[in-house]
Amino acid sequence: MKPIDIAIAGCGPAGLASALLLHRDGHRVTVFERFDTPRPIGSGLMIQPTGLAVLRELGLERELTAHGAPIARLFGQAVGSGRTVLDVRYAHLGRQAGEGWGLHRAALFAILHDAAVAEGIPIRTGRAMTGVEPGEGGRRRLVFEGGGTEGPFDLVVDALGTRTPLAPPAGRDLAYGALWTSLDWPEGAGFDAAALEQRYRAASVMAGVLPMGTAPYDPVPKAALFWSLRADRLEAWRARGLTAWKDEALGVWPALGPLLDQIDDPGQMIFARYAHRTLKRPGEPGMIHVGDAWHSASPQLGQGANMALLDAWALAAALRAEDEVADAIAHAVRLRRWHVTLYQAMTDLFTPVYQSDSRILPVLRDRLAGPLSRLWPATGVLAALVSGLIGGPLGRLGLRRVS
Ligand SMILES: Cc1cc2nc3c(=O)[nH]c(=O)nc-3n(C[C@H](O)[C@H](O)[C@H](O)COP(=O)(O)OP(=O)(O)OC[C@H]3O[C@@H](n4cnc5c(N)ncnc54)[C@H](O)[C@@H]3O)c2cc1C
Repeated sequence: MKPIDIAIAGCGPAGLASALLLHRDGHRVTVFERFDTPRPIGSGLMIQPTGLAVLRELGLERELTAHGAPIARLFGQAVGSGRTVLDVRYAHLGRQAGEGWGLHRAALFAILHDAAVAEGIPIRTGRAMTGVEPGEGGRRRLVFEGGGTEGPFDLVVDALGTRTPLAPPAGRDLAYGALWTSLDWPEGAGFDAAALEQRYRAASVMAGVLPMGTAPYDPVPKAALFWSLRADRLEAWRARGLTAWKDEALGVWPALGPLLDQIDDPGQMIFARYAHRTLKRPGEPGMIHVGDAWHSASPQLGQGANMALLDAWALAAALRAEDEVADAIAHAVRLRRWHVTLYQAMTDLFTPVYQSDSRILPVLRDRLAGPLSRLWPATGVLAALVSGLIGGPLGRLGLRRVS
């Protein structure tokens, strides 16, 4: 397609990756973001072989590996019985295996943002969007808080995340979310520096520790600590106080001590409520919704940022393949819909097994699914699932696997 005017709404992984790819293809790209200083929210996340394949194509693989912590294994144990409930190793994919990377959200943001700034992509900050309106010739204008507009643009890329005001409401908030914090990696405390580790009490308590390498401008390796919590119990958690919670957490997982010692203010624990939503129509005239604005889920399978990167890649590939914006939007959606549908369904299936008030699901998980998951062929299927590779997303997008 010949160069067009593109507005990217949102400075998260979906928006920044789209901006880089479309700018490099010669389009006139402007990014809009509500924060005055663009910044990431939250603690750590996992980059899977899918996300890594996109970052490599962007020429950012070295930046990722310089900051991130390589993850070989996802390991979870039930409290009390000590049963191994989850033991997924990327190596179970054999010669096809890739690896996961634990990454500070600030590092992923900095990697993409620095590249966008270095390439001279305009990023307009302090611009909160409230909607879009029709412009001349079927183009779209962005509408901002206070009533101002920008545009018209041939294409608006909605990368505003799960609560985007540019799409109709969809899906539902999940009952559970989690408290997250970033702490110094507790050297010598017995955690596996190459594993995401979790402990579960039934499905109502889940504690996790993710190595996430270093944040920008801080050489000390970090860990993300998360503690699942039902959203309507957040006030009660605050009211109980830190000491009572720390006692409970130590009862669940005594090794957490050196991490809990670093928390002296409840404000260090940031609550993230999860939502499960999938837009039925991610493409509309002159606008496409990508990343969490199209599909969001609990982070149980650790795919969200990776899906956002794949969406960005698909959009760029579709614009290269088509001459008309409408055809490119439809093409991009076609490239991603199957993989998105599959992973949204699987995340929906898995989430209550780890985060719910169910009494039956955790028993089945601990006694049946846990042991079965460690037998062939489940080992390979789970490794492919966590890697984001089920449904063959890389082949569909012409991306090479990184192994
Ligand atoms: C606690 C937690 C843990 C997670 N763990 C993982 C993991 O391990 N692996 C993984 O892949 N994913 C994980 N995810 C999911 C992942 O963070 C998201 O899927 C990913 O960030 C989506 O990227 P995005 O660019 O679509 O949206 P976002 O990252 O949400 O970015 C949206 C951007 O738009 C801006 N914005 C929003 N509204 C407006 C507005 N009205 N006007 C202007 N700007 C606006 C925001 O400020 C933000 O910069 C996790 C999510 C959570 C909450």
